[in-house]
Amino acid sequence: MGNEQEKQENLDFLNKLAGILTKKFSPNSSIGAINKLFKTHFSFGKIEFVIWDNNNMVLKDFLMDSKIFDNDEKENTINNIYSSLSQTNGTKFFFNETEFDCDLQENELYRLTELNSENNTIIYPLISNNEVFGLMKITSEKQDLNKDLFSLLNISSKLISGTIINQILNDQMDISLNFYKAMKDIAKIIESQYELSYIIPLIGEMIDRFMSSHLIYIFIFKDNKYQLVWPNACKDKTVYNLLEKINLKTECIISENSKIGVFPLINEENILGAIVAYSNIEKLLQKDIDYLIQLTRQSGLTIQRANVYAEVLKYATMDALTGLNNRRQFELRLNQEVSNAKRNNMPLCCMMIDVDYFKKVNDTYGHAAGDCVLKNVSEVIKNEIREYDIACRYGGEEFFIILPQTKLAEATSVAQRLRKVIEETKMDIKEASLEGISYLKVTASIGVCEYTNTMTPSAFAQKADKALYEAKTTGRNRVIVI
Ligand code: GH3
Ligand code: MG
Ligand code: MG
Repeated sequence: MGNEQEKQENLDFLNKLAGILTKKFSPNSSIGAINKLFKTHFSFGKIEFVIWDNNNMVLKDFLMDSKIFDNDEKENTINNIYSSLSQTNGTKFFFNETEFDCDLQENELYRLTELNSENNTIIYPLISNNEVFGLMKITSEKQDLNKDLFSLLNISSKLISGTIINQILNDQMDISLNFYKAMKDIAKIIESQYELSYIIPLIGEMIDRFMSSHLIYIFIFKDNKYQLVWPNACKDKTVYNLLEKINLKTECIISENSKIGVFPLINEENILGAIVAYSNIEKLLQKDIDYLIQLTRQSGLTIQRANVYAEVLKYATMDALTGLNNRRQFELRLNQEVSNAKRNNMPLCCMMIDVDYFKKVNDTYGHAAGDCVLKNVSEVIKNEIREYDIACRYGGEEFFIILPQTKLAEATSVAQRLRKVIEETKMDIKEASLEGISYLKVTASIGVCEYTNTMTPSAFAQKADKALYEAKTTGRNRVIVI
């Protein structure tokens, strides 16, 4: 024991361990390398790392993020060991369920030797700031036990503790950064004052991205029932049954199997809807539930503000983003111009414009850039039409232009000019502050039609929509006249 050669070997061991731990730590391969090193150096069986999960109050395998025990007895044993090591602030370790000082004295060695068996379990605490946060568990066959072995294990457990806690803190930081980003993004949506039909998918996508192991559904409570608004389908009856249990005081409802969580969107006196997290495979963890409660609260505020805004909009005539007439104003003006045309037997045309592949702009450059494009397109429209033409933002990336006293040939040439200018314009997206990109180019499809005396205003608008549809299906970036 303790001869020069062994000392050298032990130093080698520590050097190699330090080498593994200081390389970029990727849990699976690093712990694989630690296992290999211990095996060759000590001929140990297996080394596992178990971490205390504060949210769920259980010990978990560091690598699998799952509970490690296949039976209650083992679970009890290791829990007892964990709690007794915690109480001694990590100054002790266990050898086959008996506690020893980490700073092992020579005279304790014989007690250890008596416990030496064909199935040894050695457990060291993982500690950070004198607090135990997990265990290093080694299984081995009968060993040649000596003091150096235990001081090496003691040092190793400390070195490994430092690396693992760093990894855990980094992971936690990533999660909470993502969480705060999701919260901020949800709050931010409303700054640009969108329609509910636009913001709900955005909220859904943001929560979805954060909660990747669960499907996210958003329901709106309307006409006394929960209507799914994002994504398209939810077939599971349990979800609807859980939704029925919501009342104004509900914070969340978790299904019996813990795989479904229902989080109501509530303002002071109304149930607005609910966000549902659903998984067939994974249970919702307490920390997911905490996150979802907060994300839902934030979403509730955003949706409520959108609702208030929609109320205000009822009295507004202008679209806030583009400064064009809004949809309500479009309906009014369309009615007026149709009755004018009818009364005076004057020509009347309209066109519907839809930006091509606009979803891609949002997906690639973010919706702030998408907004910039919409503003730019609106500017182009304003510049290209005559003073008495009426330009409206119909919704999303769709625009209508009503052209009073205009024949179809004239309207068609306006549309063609518009299409060309949109195609050629560098749409300024500096406001979206994307590094290295200051403009984008887009195209638009346009459907044009002329009013005939027998049409209702909505049939007139629908005809332009039909022409637009044809422009889309025949290749986009074109004008179709019908
Ligand atoms: P197509 O060529 O067939 O028209 O494809 P598209 O991607 O333009 O059409 P789609 O209708 O699939 O997508 C329209 C997108 O417009 C989806 C929606 O997220 C986005 N959108 C709607 N309103 C707004 C808004 O106010 N701002 C931004 N940035 N995007 C919006
Ligand atoms: Mg569209
Ligand atoms: Mg489009």
